[in-house]
Amino acid sequence: MQLFAPSIAFVDLETTGTRAAADRITEVGIVRVDADVRGGPPSIHEWSSLVDPEVPIPAVIQALTGITDAMVAGAPTFSSIAADIEERLADCVFVAHNARFDHGFLKHAFARIGRTFSARPLCTVRLSRRLFPDVQGHSLDAVVARHRLTVTDRHRALGDARALWAFVEAIYREIPADFIADAVQRILRIPSLPPQLPPDSLDCLPEMPGVYLFYGDNALPIYVGKSINIRERVAAHFSGDWRSETDLRLSQEIRRIEFEETAGELGALLREATLVKSLLPAHNRALRRKEEAGVLTLADGGVPRYVPAAAIDVAELALTYGPFASRRSAREALRAIAAEHALCWRRLGLEKRADGPCFQRQLKRCAGACVGVEAIADHDRRTTAALAPLAIPRWPFAGPALISERNAMRDRTDVHVLRHWCWLGTARDEGELAALLDAPPHPQFDIDVARLLLKRWKRRSLALVDVTQGLC
Ligand SMILES: [Zn+2]
Repeated sequence: MQLFAPSIAFVDLETTGTRAAADRITEVGIVRVDADVRGGPPSIHEWSSLVDPEVPIPAVIQALTGITDAMVAGAPTFSSIAADIEERLADCVFVAHNARFDHGFLKHAFARIGRTFSARPLCTVRLSRRLFPDVQGHSLDAVVARHRLTVTDRHRALGDARALWAFVEAIYREIPADFIADAVQRILRIPSLPPQLPPDSLDCLPEMPGVYLFYGDNALPIYVGKSINIRERVAAHFSGDWRSETDLRLSQEIRRIEFEETAGELGALLREATLVKSLLPAHNRALRRKEEAGVLTLADGGVPRYVPAAAIDVAELALTYGPFASRRSAREALRAIAAEHALCWRRLGLEKRADGPCFQRQLKRCAGACVGVEAIADHDRRTTAALAPLAIPRWPFAGPALISERNAMRDRTDVHVLRHWCWLGTARDEGELAALLDAPPHPQFDIDVARLLLKRWKRRSLALVDVTQGLC
């Protein structure tokens, strides 16, 4: 069996709680697997030790792990076994279930005794998710059940470390080795972070939806981005695979990273749009305030007229088409539609009023409204039909509507209040919601928000709830 690394340490810790900075380790279990250089079976060394946490263990944790205050009373302290642990983990890929948890606890435990600890953590939750994307549940219990692993001493450090090794042995029986090696490489691929950033910059970021802000030397951010997985997206900016020119500049200028979590993707998009517009980060070109954005209306029965965003009455959006980022992009869209439907450039306002055939007609691409071959009324009807796919749908409610986004892991719900394809605000609780609905601000048309909502509405993936019906 050719494992994905020559030396692998399967690690599990028992602790007094879940906060790496505040809680303590009560037990360490390590199963170290070293490949045999001549291709024989790997050598396996198991080791575990109770650790005196030097604080009481909460009763609920004692009940879960079976590790009691009495058991750890005579056990070595972390500082007395730190060197041993370091040696056992040396040169290994550090494998743990929710590796961030175990890795974080060890980092803090080492830091408390004035030493640094770093390893290449490989999370078996991520490995399981990557190898079996279609199955539900990647908790250790789910993994054990799915692969029929024989496990004793669950919730004790060595028992769980053995379960991880059993899991890896199982996947090598189920899946080709090169497939596993590829999955491990993808997970391990540590992006080359810009050297001026602290090395644990990524570890500090949550794998949650939200926005992230890159700062340079100044007080204002140089870039704002959003993602459904903040850490993964930030890592992608600095991964060697593919870097845009913007990413290269960001790598040079970045000094620190901040983030804000949101309950879901929509909230992240709305927050990004707001931050970019208020802070104007130098490297956010795409979302920068689009003064030129607007919609088209049909004047005079069938003559497209451009209405800039500032002049839009949002209550009248239903009779308009778009939205467009600029007058120019609206004209481009009109030209494409004219070409496809043999419409007249003169009637569409794409060229100056004059006598004689329009440019399109000279190329035999206009059905002839300009030269009386086609009746204006017929042409206007065709224009309306051709623009129909771009029509902004009527707001389907009498008042505001709500979209609720829930993040169960964070026990967080964001309720977005919307009206006329505009965003009025986001509430985190009943009080904020009542305040938003009590004095709804005059909706301001924002092309990015409108585009996002309309795109989802047309895909039927916008779960709007009429405010009068309350929240489900
Ligand atoms: Zn024409």
